[in-house]
Amino acid sequence: MTEFYQAAPRLQNQYEADDLLRSYLRWRLPADMLVEIEPGLHRLGERAVTDIAAWGDAAEAQPPQHVPYDPWGRRVDDIVVSNAWLALDRVSAEEGIVATAYERRHGALSRVHQMAKLYLFHAPSATYSCPLAMGDGAARFLEVHGGEDGYARGLLDHLTTRDAGRFWTSGQWMTERTGGSDVSLTSTIARWDDEQRTHRLWGTKWFTSATTSQLALALARVESAAGTTTPGGRGLSVFAIELRDAAGALRCIRVNRLKDKLGTRALPTAELTLDGTPAVLVGGEGDGVRKISTLFNVTRVYNAVAAVSGMRRAVALARDYASRRWAFGRPLSEHPLHAETLDELETRVRASFVLAFSAVELMGKDECGEASDADRARLRLLTPIAKLYTGKQAVVVASEAIEAIGGAAYIEDTGLPRLLRDAQVLPIWEGTTNVLSLDVWRAIERTGALELWLDDVRDRLHLVKGDVLRSAAGRVSEAADRIERFVDEVRASDRREANARRLAFAIARVTAGLGLIEHAAWGEGHGDPNVREAIRFAERWVARDLTSLAGGLTSG
Ligand SMILES: Cc1cc2nc3c(=O)[nH]c(=O)nc-3n(C[C@H](O)[C@H](O)[C@H](O)COP(=O)(O)OP(=O)(O)OC[C@H]3O[C@@H](n4cnc5c(N)ncnc54)[C@H](O)[C@@H]3O)c2cc1C
Repeated sequence: MTEFYQAAPRLQNQYEADDLLRSYLRWRLPADMLVEIEPGLHRLGERAVTDIAAWGDAAEAQPPQHVPYDPWGRRVDDIVVSNAWLALDRVSAEEGIVATAYERRHGALSRVHQMAKLYLFHAPSATYSCPLAMGDGAARFLEVHGGEDGYARGLLDHLTTRDAGRFWTSGQWMTERTGGSDVSLTSTIARWDDEQRTHRLWGTKWFTSATTSQLALALARVESAAGTTTPGGRGLSVFAIELRDAAGALRCIRVNRLKDKLGTRALPTAELTLDGTPAVLVGGEGDGVRKISTLFNVTRVYNAVAAVSGMRRAVALARDYASRRWAFGRPLSEHPLHAETLDELETRVRASFVLAFSAVELMGKDECGEASDADRARLRLLTPIAKLYTGKQAVVVASEAIEAIGGAAYIEDTGLPRLLRDAQVLPIWEGTTNVLSLDVWRAIERTGALELWLDDVRDRLHLVKGDVLRSAAGRVSEAADRIERFVDEVRASDRREANARRLAFAIARVTAGLGLIEHAAWGEGHGDPNVREAIRFAERWVARDLTSLAGGLTSG
């Protein structure tokens, strides 16, 4: 009798195997644009399971090392990364994962193209998407706040080039020991050095990811000639720091240690002391927290797309495994309860996908000057919502996908535990779920975003045709009505903060429901080959996630 060995889960070309991504792009992009960009997506989908995946695995196996001293005792603070991590940098430049958004060959839709690339790239990349996210956020910051300043333009050029030899990524140095949520307590000081005609920073940054980047944008408090500073968030300014000199040595920066992290192990995250670090004020003095939101709104959208990317890979692996693994006389995929478990995960991936890409589309319009006031208010609302909702879903989906594969997925050398480890950071960095939920309240109170969002949802639901989808649209509409009443109740009870998370999740679920239904309706009208699946999952989402919302949204 031959011995049994289980076949491992396998992945195919991640573009070709992703019916949702392909159908979404057919829906949202003009046909000639899709014809132009599709060869690149096919290529990236293949690389996502070949060389990029191999570099991701190798980078994970060889995490960065901090080398504080050289052999002769000089302090050097090298951070040594693997060749695979360097290869991921090179390939991301060459594939234009950031550049595509700034070349704007297809106007506002360039963001959709770029985020489709990121979606294919993130999951196998051992979170190389993190330096890219911050580099992209820094680029947008420089575009908005750098004006025509030659220095800022030069940095922007490095951040958005496809030339791997000139390509830079960036860090974002905000979190200090006092906290990442409340950065108004930042104590890093910026003093003007009259002799060198530059600012110099003194302070400690407690979490600095992608510390091997060439650039960082940091928050610091400008000290006046009299030695005083302005407290609070408004007293902070944004500084650009080029980390290394021409010889590669850190410029008055000490690496205290690298963080020993649960996940994202290939990504260097350091604790730093800034010891008179030369830094250039960008965007003028003061109001730094508001200004740097330009950066972290980009990284939040990256986070949402990365979350969906990780979920897609986890579910693809679990689905493939279900056809290879047998139990009780048949493949797992033929057991109704296992199939139902996988469908539940697929529903969450699809809902998260349309939610994340609704923020992507609005971001593209905003960057290209095509957004109306209502679009901008919806972008303001949906950026934190897309980030917080998909971050939470990513953890649930990764955990369930691992269980669906079973004990093997808990074992390190299968590479599968990484799915869960790397998902767990997504709800934490770039703003935790609670902090973002409070931000959603601020958007509602300050910009009237909720009313504009509700108008938009109702207008779009009216356009949905077809009996099946009209009934689902009716349920989305009821859920939207419930949100409106809920907000009134919460305002009356004055328990806004305590209810902020419930509200944010409800808006996420309705936005996702709307997107799934619109996508299915488009598929029906255009005879899309994936329409049956689109309708099935849209109906499922509405029945399971929105029907309960109408009754279950109670303020506490
Ligand atoms: C792997 C990793 C890499 C990171 N890289 C970077 C980086 O490159 N640059 C950078 O600047 N930061 C970075 N961070 C830091 C990250 O942004 C912070 O950890 C995050 O913002 C939370 O801040 P904190 O850890 O200080 O938690 P705290 O701010 O202390 O929050 C703790 C908890 O309290 C909750 N909370 C806080 N305020 C409220 C409130 N008002 N109402 C309700 N709940 C509240 C939060 O939701 C959270 O659950 C990184 C973190 C990790 C884990």
